[in-house]
Amino acid sequence: MRPRRSTTGSGRTIRISNLLADFQEHSDGIHDAISRVLASGTYILGENVEAFEREFSSYCGTRYGIGVASGTDALTLSLMALGVGNGDEVITVANTASPTAMAILNAGATPRLVDPSPDTFVMDISNIENGMTSRTRAVIPVHLYGNPCNMRKIMGFAKENGIFVVEDCCQAHGACFDDERVGSFGDTGCFSFYPTKNLGGYGDGGMIVTHSKDLAYKIRALRFYGMEDRHSSQTRGLCSRLDELHAAILRVKLKDLDAKNERRRENAAYYKERLRECARLRFQEEYAKGMNVYHQLVVGVSQREILRRRLLEKGIETAVHYPVALCDQPAYRRYSYNKPFAVSRYLAKSVLSLPVHPYLDPDSLQLVCDVIQRCVKGGRQRKKV
Ligand SMILES: *Cc1c(COP(=O)(O)O)cnc(C)c1O
Repeated sequence: MRPRRSTTGSGRTIRISNLLADFQEHSDGIHDAISRVLASGTYILGENVEAFEREFSSYCGTRYGIGVASGTDALTLSLMALGVGNGDEVITVANTASPTAMAILNAGATPRLVDPSPDTFVMDISNIENGMTSRTRAVIPVHLYGNPCNMRKIMGFAKENGIFVVEDCCQAHGACFDDERVGSFGDTGCFSFYPTKNLGGYGDGGMIVTHSKDLAYKIRALRFYGMEDRHSSQTRGLCSRLDELHAAILRVKLKDLDAKNERRRENAAYYKERLRECARLRFQEEYAKGMNVYHQLVVGVSQREILRRRLLEKGIETAVHYPVALCDQPAYRRYSYNKPFAVSRYLAKSVLSLPVHPYLDPDSLQLVCDVIQRCVKGGRQRKKV
């Protein structure tokens, strides 16, 4: 049973996300966009999908964008287009969201799970090295919680070793590494527009971005029953398209993705400043060249459940992303090869996501920090004299 949720002194709950506030802010533009699509008579792969593909890929700094049905499908279709499937291994981290690995299975390939870095909670090249075998064809770095991987190093390693790179950007719309957007480094970059993501719709949706004309062409066919000409199927494909309705809505919301990300970054900076001296909290570390967009603000903390309960008693929601490492999920257990996965399992037990969404007000942020400071005892390190 979930612990009972009470509210703050003023009767409010501090939510982990606030999708309704986000809708209300854009409501006029969204209603307009929906009406225009409904009145247009075109509902699948029309002008809004085309325009949004152009706008989003240009935002990412890539030449092509292909709208698809979900982030999971974006990953699956990328692997299919690269010819990665049966008998091939794809390396990814065991602390990611399940869909990263499910997409590998959906493409017919085998996930090769590895631990992430214990400091950044994302993959670095030493982790990839640990997973390399003679069957490795591709690697999926995940910019987890909005924190970009070191893509310069990963691309260098991939080039040297002749493997493909499919970026999982599903939590990192707008994040940068070395001043370039995530999604623009790999063979493809994969995005989800699931409602809670930094750029989210009101149902499912996704996008693949790429510099490659050839991959873009293949993916366009693969998302449409493997048809290159809309009449006859050339290969096995999926039915995986982004709706006109959603493309029209997402075009409205893309306009202030940067502003929303900036608010997340300000909120995260406030937490880091206020909780700097809590020795028992470990913030996810970032690369100097990385620009994190804080899909989640994640701390590692021992005795996580005590802190969660204390926060909930004050009406503050938190979440755990993710409580079960992939190596311990039934669908992937057989791909764990009895490795220890010390980092992934430790993270599953200790990570906690704090509210960081763009609609938090200063009082709420202050309250969350006050409660954490009181709960995480021994945090304040006295200066030695
Ligand atoms: C959300 C997410 C996905 C999958 O996106 P869907 O649109 O739900 O299929 C994949 N990887 C990561 C890291 C995600 O957070």
